[in-house]
Amino acid sequence: MKPFRYERVTDPYAAVAAVSASPQARYLAGGTNLVDLMKLGVETPDVLVDISGVSFGGIEETGRGGLRIGAFVSNSDLAAHPLVRERYPALSQAVLAGASGQLRNAATVGGNLLQRTRCLYFQDTSKPCNKRRPGSGCPAIEGIHRDLAVLGTSRHCVATQPGDMVVALAAFDAEVHLLGPAGERTVPLTGFHRLPGNEPQRDTVLKHGELITAVELPALPIAARSVYRKVRDRSSYAFALTSAAVAIEVRGGVVRDVRIAYGSLAAKPWRARAAEEFLLGAPATEENFALAADTELAAARPLRDNGYKVTLARNLTVRLLTDLTGPVGSVAHAQGAPR
Ligand SMILES: Cc1cc2nc3c(=O)[nH]c(=O)nc-3n(C[C@H](O)[C@H](O)[C@H](O)COP(=O)(O)OP(=O)(O)OC[C@H]3O[C@@H](n4cnc5c(N)ncnc54)[C@H](O)[C@@H]3O)c2cc1C
Ligand code: SF4
Repeated sequence: MKPFRYERVTDPYAAVAAVSASPQARYLAGGTNLVDLMKLGVETPDVLVDISGVSFGGIEETGRGGLRIGAFVSNSDLAAHPLVRERYPALSQAVLAGASGQLRNAATVGGNLLQRTRCLYFQDTSKPCNKRRPGSGCPAIEGIHRDLAVLGTSRHCVATQPGDMVVALAAFDAEVHLLGPAGERTVPLTGFHRLPGNEPQRDTVLKHGELITAVELPALPIAARSVYRKVRDRSSYAFALTSAAVAIEVRGGVVRDVRIAYGSLAAKPWRARAAEEFLLGAPATEENFALAADTELAAARPLRDNGYKVTLARNLTVRLLTDLTGPVGSVAHAQGAPR
């Protein structure tokens, strides 16, 4: 591992100043992704600024009826919080579907948003990779890409954002609060991660030195009857092949409101707005759920070995929406949701 300097700060402005001072400086939160990448030689910071002593706040209700989640809240604490479980159950389920108990104890909300792709070539410094070394090529397009993206890809990169938490946050219109050298700003979660385009090395719209201070969820009654499901190769300790966070409100047999977001299909959590638009005002039938998924997934451009993800996403959408609106024995019944 390349030698680096370690600094510990307790003030967010000092943290921003310390990282802004060097292009190679990085914030250190739980370290569960950054330190792994340093060991692999993928990340080579010259300074690590430890933010574990900064007071970002916990999980608090906002004046607008939503929740503010401090950037250093651990994944475990987020998943277990009573208000998260009651008002945004898909978020709690998504976080619990990720990693392991030990990792969730160490991993933070801010670090989770910025975890990097699990593309094998990205993690292997002996291989070319446009995300790690711009202009070197993308061996995944012709090589091993079974886990990689089917939506929003470019000829420069087909990596996925592999997280779970972000999928529920995207479905629920969360916002990311940032503090940078130029002051504070807020970015919608759905606009936080970037599609690769010509610059696959840029995962997010974050500027160097900007610190995530919090994530805010709006008041969203529909989210109280939400569900997250993750499809993976084994039932624990594996990244998603495809996942979905879904919420739906049906009155008189007609869809009055609906939220659908997919994970591990693109370089960002994929809010399925075309599917949502299709369903608004439509009868809540299995056939319409499938047509809505087809509408969204028409934009998919699968590679040789990952077309199965499109089928998975379609089936997942139909299954979750049917469960949430369906008969006795379904998720809706288990959660006591009105139909
Ligand atoms: C074996 C394993 C399995 C995993 N499985 C899953 C899974 O199934 N699903 C899933 O979603 N995740 C999974 N993860 C990823 C894990 O959730 C992330 O590693 C973790 O959330 C990162 O958080 P951290 O606090 O440790 O971040 P760090 O590793 O400390 O930081 C990650 C990045 O974020 C930056 N950063 C951290 N905090 C801030 C901040 N406040 N502002 C600005 N920048 C910041 C750091 O500089 C760094 O670039 C897995 C990880 C491992 C090791
Ligand atoms: S898909 Fe992206 S991360 Fe993977 S090798 Fe290609 S450029 Fe690198």
